[in-house]
Amino acid sequence: MNIAVREKPLKLLWLEALKRRLFEEDPDFSYYHEQFRRFDAGFAGEKKVDREWLELVCPYTFLVLHNLILMNSAQHSHQLDTLFICSNFMLVVEIKNINGRLDFDDITHQCIRTKPDGTVEGFPNAITQTQRHMQFLKVIFQNYSLPIEGAVIIANPSAIIASHPKTIPIFHVSGLQKHLHSLFRKYTQAILSDEQLTQIAQQFPCRHQSSKIPAPIDSSRYRQGVLCPKCRYKSQMHYARGIWRCSYCQFASEEIFAEALQDYRYLVGSTITNKQLREFFDIHSSDAANRLLRKFQFPYTGSYKNRVYQLLENLVDYMKPFFRSS
Ligand SMILES: [Zn+2]
Repeated sequence: MNIAVREKPLKLLWLEALKRRLFEEDPDFSYYHEQFRRFDAGFAGEKKVDREWLELVCPYTFLVLHNLILMNSAQHSHQLDTLFICSNFMLVVEIKNINGRLDFDDITHQCIRTKPDGTVEGFPNAITQTQRHMQFLKVIFQNYSLPIEGAVIIANPSAIIASHPKTIPIFHVSGLQKHLHSLFRKYTQAILSDEQLTQIAQQFPCRHQSSKIPAPIDSSRYRQGVLCPKCRYKSQMHYARGIWRCSYCQFASEEIFAEALQDYRYLVGSTITNKQLREFFDIHSSDAANRLLRKFQFPYTGSYKNRVYQLLENLVDYMKPFFRSS
């Protein structure tokens, strides 16, 4: 058994940073908030389904991969929410965390959601998406005769699955175990050896394309600096003697800098200079900015005056041990 851990998608981290900082007057404020809400709900739904794999009693060695982004020959991406592979078959799973009544139209290939208040809206059709992924996997695995199955899982228990074609099974998360057991009974012949399964497990992460941060938006559209969480990120905190203090509510923190620098990494870029640090975080002294940058031992290039510091991934976790209180 080999179950990968699902990580928060980069786009969601980017939206989280933007949500904290974008000015309410911005013409795209509601658009980005709605984007955040959808991505956040999607991620929560995927995590809910992930728990099911941990409880799975499977008669074969298996592998579960999450959030795989693969490119096809036309350089179009396939984002697979979850891929289950065992010696006898594979199952590609598309996860949706939406509520209301869901109608999947086989002719128009549209998914129509009707909210409890009667509002009707269109969604990408998860059944068509799954079929597209299955076709692509057929090409990747053409050298093996491994059967490829697909399923759409609805993670929101209050969603009503109404009309849908019978081409791809669609069910609530609670039905996953039963569905898998029906596939175990359907495919009793082992096609892949354990060795081949291990090979596949090693190959997939190499084919995976990291998701990209959206194009940067102009810094005049969002609040810069270290923002005060107690003031719902509306007021700026100022740096003095190693501590950030809110000018409005007087909340003081040293560690809050890590979150703010991570926002910088997502919204501005993954490198920073002394000058950029002073401008973004409103630090007046070049020496203070220098001490702050050296404290965290970020890798850097360039000589003393022109140093460019690399802001690493998982910045908040990386910076934690460097704070006095930790
Ligand atoms: Zn405050």
